[in-house]
Amino acid sequence: MLINYLIPGPRDLWFLPLGGTGEIGMNLNLFGHAGQWLMVDCGVTFQEPLNTQNPTLFDVVSADPKFIVEHKEHLAGIVITHAHEDHLGAIPYLWQRFQAPIYTTAFTAEVLRRKLQQFNLLDQVPIIEVNTGDTQNIGVFSVQWLATTHSIPEPHGLVIRTPAGAIFHTADWKIDANPVLGKKFQSRPFERMAEQGISAMVCDSTNALKPGYSTSEAAVYPELKKLISETRNRVVVSCFSSNIARLITLGRIAKETGRYFSPIGRSLQNMVSIARTTGYWPADIPVADQRHLGYLPAEEVLAVATGSQGEPRAALRRLANDGFRDLQLEKGDRVIFSSMIIPGNEDAIAALVRALKARGFNVIQAHETARPIHASGHPCQEELKLLYDWVQPKIAIPTHGEPEHLDFHQKLASERGIEFSFSGRNGDLYVIAPEPRLQKNVVKTGRIPLQFSAN
Ligand SMILES: [Zn+2]
Ligand SMILES: [Zn+2]
Repeated sequence: MLINYLIPGPRDLWFLPLGGTGEIGMNLNLFGHAGQWLMVDCGVTFQEPLNTQNPTLFDVVSADPKFIVEHKEHLAGIVITHAHEDHLGAIPYLWQRFQAPIYTTAFTAEVLRRKLQQFNLLDQVPIIEVNTGDTQNIGVFSVQWLATTHSIPEPHGLVIRTPAGAIFHTADWKIDANPVLGKKFQSRPFERMAEQGISAMVCDSTNALKPGYSTSEAAVYPELKKLISETRNRVVVSCFSSNIARLITLGRIAKETGRYFSPIGRSLQNMVSIARTTGYWPADIPVADQRHLGYLPAEEVLAVATGSQGEPRAALRRLANDGFRDLQLEKGDRVIFSSMIIPGNEDAIAALVRALKARGFNVIQAHETARPIHASGHPCQEELKLLYDWVQPKIAIPTHGEPEHLDFHQKLASERGIEFSFSGRNGDLYVIAPEPRLQKNVVKTGRIPLQFSAN
């Protein structure tokens, strides 16, 4: 056994997560075979540091990449599954430490290029653009991109094939029959995997504790339209900037209700611009400049803002503090949270909601409405069961979750008849071949700060 040196042999197929297994955020996954490693995703997470003197400080952190930096001559390449921050946000900070080519699809590549530009790295980082359905040989790994549905354009699962076995890495996914943007979820490619034989399925656990099915992205339209059309005041909707489908839904509602749709703040405007560049923004949905908002009658304003998690510098927080030059809200204006509460952000969100209500704004959160105004991008229990029935992997590897999500997901997979099911953590070595087993604490892991941002 070569595990002492952590160099996989020709009969070995390994999974080694450095981040994202045991937490939601900062994904950094490694697959090992025949002397080489393949990195899948390299993301960040945001944490409030234990600094009681200055509670407005937020940290951007990533998984400690020490292990792969020490083995960088064995790193064949980096694959980015989709453009969420917890999957690609650490690349501009960490890439120089391991310097391997990056493989991803067009939308994700465009998001990444704009980030790299800010770090003056655009000319240095080789980005190889692939198409949905493509297969690329990356060192000893053959990687195929499979379309899924999620909450951002171009989400992909990966089939990673080697002579020692095949892995299906789901990345973030859900089953959405009407995703607003992109093709609806197709089960056939996943059913076909069972015929080919999948050694292990590495799978999203975010919503493993939730029974039933996730809400379709298209289902948020009626309630959002009702909430926007029933008021004569200004409306501000807060959502994640990368959810282009949600932005398109809001743009459409604005058009139908006689309002000007205006994304406010840099990150939203950047995302709309990326959606235009990559052909995802519908030509019939106008976008108003935020500088015009102050001149419009209240009933014609539909602004979209980031900051649904209570982030101190985001647009919503600035609107609450009346610190936004282009738009001042007045008593009675409506603020809609078209978003979920990410675990850990409860206090920051509660403080923001208090501040908005104190100014007399009419605040509506997702849990207060009759019908959905937010749709999660992750699979609930019935979706997980369907995927296991289709793919029928030999080994289930729950990831992208906190310990309770992973443990529950492991149980669900076992009950579904999956032969091996491992609930491990960052730094554990999942031996997929030759003999399945989980070796605990093989690599020391942790998190490293990338950036401090003060309010
Ligand atoms: Zn994610
Ligand atoms: Zn995601």
